[in-house]
Amino acid sequence: KLQTDLPILTKDEVGSLAGAITDLGKELEQYRTSRSEFFANISHELRTPISYIKGYSEVLRKGMVQSEMERNQYLMIIEDESTRLAALINDLFELAKMEEGKLDLHPEWIEMDDILTSAIKKVSLKATEKKIAILLQPSHDHPMIYVDAIRLEQIMINLIENAIRYSEPETNVDVYIQVHRNRLKVFIKDQGMGIPKEDIPFIFERFYRVEKSRSRASGGTGLGLAIVKNLVELLGGEIELNSASGEGTLFTLSFSIDQKVRADK
Ligand code: ADP
Repeated sequence: KLQTDLPILTKDEVGSLAGAITDLGKELEQYRTSRSEFFANISHELRTPISYIKGYSEVLRKGMVQSEMERNQYLMIIEDESTRLAALINDLFELAKMEEGKLDLHPEWIEMDDILTSAIKKVSLKATEKKIAILLQPSHDHPMIYVDAIRLEQIMINLIENAIRYSEPETNVDVYIQVHRNRLKVFIKDQGMGIPKEDIPFIFERFYRVEKSRSRASGGTGLGLAIVKNLVELLGGEIELNSASGEGTLFTLSFSIDQKVRADK
């Protein structure tokens, strides 16, 4: 006689168990494909700048370039592509740390206005180059929030840099704050090219871009929004986006002011 501690399952239970195992298998399969897709993306993204660097340095070494101007152009490409490579490696490392839960957070009391002012200062060179004005509307009540200031600033820099990158020169980017009930909201609104409706659901995915060439030409790694989304969640906030092709983009970040209550406990 078969001795077993396992419960005897009814036909229905066997059926639902089999169903659950099949679902699990499907999920695992999906996970595997998205993982291998991700690695395929990474190697493509890494290979592209490397092939530029390799190609142009070879051309220069072999003395195949006559004019000084052309030589400078090639050196500039090598420099840009090295910068991109460094940014890509940095972003990948950041993402990996976040996903493994290994990012150390150092929350402190800060004023949201100060974070925004500091972020805007850091991107002002890029804004000036494109004659884009970043208009910060400070809040009346200067709300405080208990959060990791460096990471919060990183989120703001990323979003404002994107607003600059995907806008035409001589447009404005508006940044403003609102406090409603127990939530502190930050709005970043540009008058740029917008994001087509069909792309919006995928926009926070790693390496997803609406226009590859434009992102590349302006130094994007395709990882910015994936990092932003991860960071916002780690800081206990939420991010939303409203956009349509040709109509600009509005990112809304929202944090609970009651975080301070939780933090005090
Ligand atoms: P990238 O390095 O390519 O900018 P991101 O992850 O930051 O990568 O953004 C992903 C894509 O989302 C971009 O390539 C761009 O197509 C689109 N995007 C992001 N921000 C904006 C914006 N403010 N306006 C229009 N499109 C945007």
